[in-house]
Amino acid sequence: MRRVYLDYNATSPVSADICDSMADIMRYPRNASAVHAMGREGRKHVEHARRQVATLVGAPPAQVIFNSGATEGDNTVLQHFARSYPSERILVSSIEHPAVLEALDDTNVAPEHIPVRANGVVNVDALAQMLSNGGKISLVSVMMVNNETGVIQPIADIAALAHKHGALFHCDAVQGAGRIPIDITALSVDFMSISAHKLGGPQGVGALAFGSCGVTPILLHGGGQEKKARAGTENVAGIVGFGMASEIAHNRVTDGSYTAHLAPLRDYLERALSDMASVHKKTIIIHGADAPRVANTVLFTIEGMTSESTLMALDLDGIAVSNGSACSSGTVQPSHVLTAMGASPEIATGAIRVSMGMRTTQAELEAFITALTKVVGRV
Ligand code: PLP
Repeated sequence: MRRVYLDYNATSPVSADICDSMADIMRYPRNASAVHAMGREGRKHVEHARRQVATLVGAPPAQVIFNSGATEGDNTVLQHFARSYPSERILVSSIEHPAVLEALDDTNVAPEHIPVRANGVVNVDALAQMLSNGGKISLVSVMMVNNETGVIQPIADIAALAHKHGALFHCDAVQGAGRIPIDITALSVDFMSISAHKLGGPQGVGALAFGSCGVTPILLHGGGQEKKARAGTENVAGIVGFGMASEIAHNRVTDGSYTAHLAPLRDYLERALSDMASVHKKTIIIHGADAPRVANTVLFTIEGMTSESTLMALDLDGIAVSNGSACSSGTVQPSHVLTAMGASPEIATGAIRVSMGMRTTQAELEAFITALTKVVGRV
């Protein structure tokens, strides 16, 4: 059966070149901390990849620390501030990934949620109000691009506001890296989490990039790796794959080819969805449609349809898409992102996310529309 992969925001395919390079690395034992020749070769690979990843986010290479991914990066930063300043406040946007929202579950600090507007953009006026509401604030954390809607947040404005009130600023840039230009210095971000597998690298490797605040949050102790900032033997093959994917992604963002490929596909898809809905006399909502968005993501709800059964029907047709809702103990919960945007529980439970990448073709979107039309016709 033909398979159509439209779930790049969950994880992205790794190119054959990157797989081959990683396999080459794994053929030899390369502990990058060992002093012998094979160890030193491993170190060279790690440092080359560090430069590639640093270029992607505009940071000096010395300010990039490799880790296991963005869940670790987010937890490292959030937990550092909760444990170091237990009497101070931490503000996070209400649409963050659970890696931020639940990072403080085992601490004595409950993060306060910054509201978003109906279009999915963080309400900067409300944030300003919260920042002025007494009590010292150690950290503000707002993601660069939302993983469900693709909505881009005004990171430079939010960072400036946080700094004005004496707080440091963390940004989960997982869904922005490799999709829009990033310059950690120009944005004035203090800590930035990124993850390889969202931009064409392997799973289980990521990085925390640092701005100029001079604070280094540490989660894992027990080894001198990564200048003592992150203990644990380096995942050399994974880091090499991450570096290669970062360089390719950076070039595509810089020369405009990422958006040039994906924006027309997104526009085609949104037009096709609207046409299909009007033929079947359905209302369709494209979430965050009037906000700045990355070119690869479309989150929509078709009135009267549940995402669970739609996903299953599409899966039977070989099409992989996703929903925003979380499934816990066998029940589908409304998406917390859409709920924060003011959507009703039915709308927030019914959303389908299509997320695309450089390999996505119009023919794949046509196959998706054909399969979805069958489902809509049956409802
Ligand atoms: N943050 C965001 C916005 C994400 O989309 C994801 C992945 O789903 C994560 C964090 C977690 O990243 P990782 O899989 O690298 O732990």
